[in-house]
Amino acid sequence: MNPLRLLLLGAPGSGKGTQTSKLLNQFKHIKSVSSGDLLRRRIQQKTELGRIASEYISQGKLLPDSLMNDLVVGELSVRGWLSADSSFLLDGFPRTLEQARSLRVQLTPHNASLNLVVELDVPTDVILERIENRYVHVPSGRVYNLTYNPPKVPGKDDVTGEPLIKRPDDTSEVFGKRLKNYAETVEPLKQFYSELGILKTVSGPTSDIIFPQLLKLVVQKLHQP
Ligand code: ATP
Ligand code: MG
Repeated sequence: MNPLRLLLLGAPGSGKGTQTSKLLNQFKHIKSVSSGDLLRRRIQQKTELGRIASEYISQGKLLPDSLMNDLVVGELSVRGWLSADSSFLLDGFPRTLEQARSLRVQLTPHNASLNLVVELDVPTDVILERIENRYVHVPSGRVYNLTYNPPKVPGKDDVTGEPLIKRPDDTSEVFGKRLKNYAETVEPLKQFYSELGILKTVSGPTSDIIFPQLLKLVVQKLHQP
């Protein structure tokens, strides 16, 4: 089996976190890193980076590229994933062309470059409706939706029983800015990965329609000769 080093691209609320959980359930050897989850954990732990991050996040602004690079590549390194046989999934990073370039420069010497980038293409009206009902468990990054995927006990994480929160950046004002940021940054990023020949797109209005398409791409990559 080939290693899988996958980046999920998609607008905020397009279901990157949900698709990630589904993939991790299916492939026990694959692990994931979500840049947003890393930042939210720093905020909860009240670290210096957390303080900086909450200022940007609460305004729907992207953090500086160099800071995000250090954070995520540092995490990959600590987890021992900078090697040719490692498999991992990235959610939320890279999300600017600059981040994509520097990640590539840092992965190449380890023969650990990304080998698949999948864009989740979900209609904006669906996304807006989802966000209103979204709750998260910060320590794990698990995402719930009161309509489609409610927690077993209201307000509590299924696995730990800990409280769920509504993300402070899921208000309509901040969310609008995040959508706009995404639209502005994604095209050069897609161009970059399309030139490397590893960009694919999956489309649909629900996670259940998206997942089989994503699964097919992943299985192809794992087994491609
Ligand atoms: P969702 O989690 O709904 O899919 P999202 O992708 O906008 O939406 P996160 O990835 O959780 O949300 O990111 C939340 C915030 O964290 C962003 O709005 C931004 O402020 C910051 N952030 C996360 N990743 C990056 C990154 N790679 N570069 C810059 N800022 C980032
Ligand atoms: Mg997310």
